[in-house]
Amino acid sequence: MSLEGLYREAQRDCIFRQVLLDRINLEQSARYVHEVRYFSLNRNKFNPEADQPYKMGTHAPWLTRNLGVKWLRSDVFVYDPAFTLSWPFFCSVLIDHEGYHAQEYFQKPDIIRTKHLNGCFEIRIQEAEREIRACQNQLDRAKFRGLSEEEIALIERHIADFGKEVAAQRATAERF
Ligand SMILES: [Zn+2]
Repeated sequence: MSLEGLYREAQRDCIFRQVLLDRINLEQSARYVHEVRYFSLNRNKFNPEADQPYKMGTHAPWLTRNLGVKWLRSDVFVYDPAFTLSWPFFCSVLIDHEGYHAQEYFQKPDIIRTKHLNGCFEIRIQEAEREIRACQNQLDRAKFRGLSEEEIALIERHIADFGKEVAAQRATAERF
């Protein structure tokens, strides 16, 4: 079965979700990712997507987050709503977005060490800027992935929203 065929099975039946994740080649992101894990937050078995806002997330190791230790690989968690995406967009989010976060945490752990930052404004600005960079990486590879115009527009909207967040946080921070 092709990987895309397996993805369709995984969309229908969560039993195939980890099987699929274990078979996906993470390409340029492979060396930055320790493990890709399906994680169900399912509390409503009749509508598993209902109360889960997140599709995927990248979690840096404790040593990276707290002590800024370099060259450690992150885990990527894949939640149920991710399986509502098209196959090209699923790969785009997993490899080009989450993989990009993993690469940054691997190479520049200081960008998630928030302890030295001055308050919540800087933390939120940093978070938004991280998202902008990961979304930009998705856009750079959008043609290669074969994303639809709607999917590209969605990523562009995310970048614009995070840009507004950065501007708003900067403006608020200046008032203090
Ligand atoms: Zn992200």
